[in-house]
Amino acid sequence: MIALIQAGGAGTRLKSITGDLPKPMVPICGKPILQWQIENLKASGCNHVILVVSKNGTAVQDYFGFGDKFGIKIEYIVEQEPLGTGGALYFASKMIDEDFALLFGDLMIDVDWNRFFAFHQKREALITAFAHPNGHPADSDVLVADADGKVRKMLSKHDPRDFFYENLTNAGLYIVSREILHRFTEPVQIDFEKEVLAPSIPEERIYAYRSSEYVKDCGTPERYYGVTADCQNGIIAARNLAKPQPCIFLDRDGTINHFGDYVIRPEMLLLEPGAAQAIKKINASPYLAICITNQPIVARGETTIEQLQSIHFKLEDLLGQEGAYLNDLYFCPHHPDRGFPGENPAYKIDCDCRKPKIGLLLRAQRRYNIDFKNSWMIGDTCQDVQTGINAGCHTCLLLGGDPNPYKKYADAKPDLICQNLAEAIDKILALK
Ligand SMILES: [Zn+2]
Repeated sequence: MIALIQAGGAGTRLKSITGDLPKPMVPICGKPILQWQIENLKASGCNHVILVVSKNGTAVQDYFGFGDKFGIKIEYIVEQEPLGTGGALYFASKMIDEDFALLFGDLMIDVDWNRFFAFHQKREALITAFAHPNGHPADSDVLVADADGKVRKMLSKHDPRDFFYENLTNAGLYIVSREILHRFTEPVQIDFEKEVLAPSIPEERIYAYRSSEYVKDCGTPERYYGVTADCQNGIIAARNLAKPQPCIFLDRDGTINHFGDYVIRPEMLLLEPGAAQAIKKINASPYLAICITNQPIVARGETTIEQLQSIHFKLEDLLGQEGAYLNDLYFCPHHPDRGFPGENPAYKIDCDCRKPKIGLLLRAQRRYNIDFKNSWMIGDTCQDVQTGINAGCHTCLLLGGDPNPYKKYADAKPDLICQNLAEAIDKILALK
């Protein structure tokens, strides 16, 4: 595995902390960010790193040399003048003959690159972008992707958005196919996202790899201190998907959003008081936050899959307004009983994903390497509790949602009973 790292950034906004150090040399818990990156790549089997540096900054070369100290081969592309985020690909085309990782040297990361590469190779993608939800989607560039991750378009943070969209932001890590390199025939300044990534979307081989792993930039003092705290707390390394992940699975209606009439339009969805702040606490903890919901309204013909997605984009918008996000959301659109007017027969099946079956949890487990026995299922009915029990998770029943939580699976005994999500999360996080 080979990686090309843009390591030329000057740390202008961090001057108060780091003086004149280039951004990739900014220390986090005693090591430069770039060293964390190289060690992370090496842990995934990468043996060759090419660093793109500016002719003025010798700090990176002085520290890393040819990589002997780090057990990895390091080469350099020294830019005589700044060539943007993509100009170095011209030089790289003479050094690389395989699909490669492309990343920016100011990001603190801990990623299972083998999982990322496998996703890219399975889809024979031209470029695969590492994508994740964040706590501020409204001021982020976001990717619009289909269920398999194929990117349909990019939404710039500079363009107004008067519609709901998935909280899926482009993190700045890529796997790039070798075949793109022959397009770079001269050393000119190129913006990778605007001039390479965006124009390739119509070719339909640009993918978004959705992950819960840690990728954050440290470009401002506030972010720098946040990343340092995460490093000290062990969260950065723990989120690597090569390691089993603890997760808090959350039911939707009556748990995250207000229980009432079936939500068949975005405007009908309202958050439960305290739910967004509770999810924000999960986001800062070792647990993933993944919503698991039965939505038989699709089978009943009251809404379409597209309308349901738009309801979920509104949910992400409301959470994002309070700095919270779900790592993912899985829904069951099915219902087993046929014979009602207006129903959609395609979804009237006895599926394997309607809770208390655990098909949705198993899908989440495959994608995020979830360790069920260190995970929780929280919901406002015993059907949710039974789901958690069926998967081998701890369970928590909320009494403040569905007025009749015991109407099905009343024998399912939760480990914890709380009034609402805020109370449940405080209690669960206090157990760790
Ligand atoms: Zn289903």
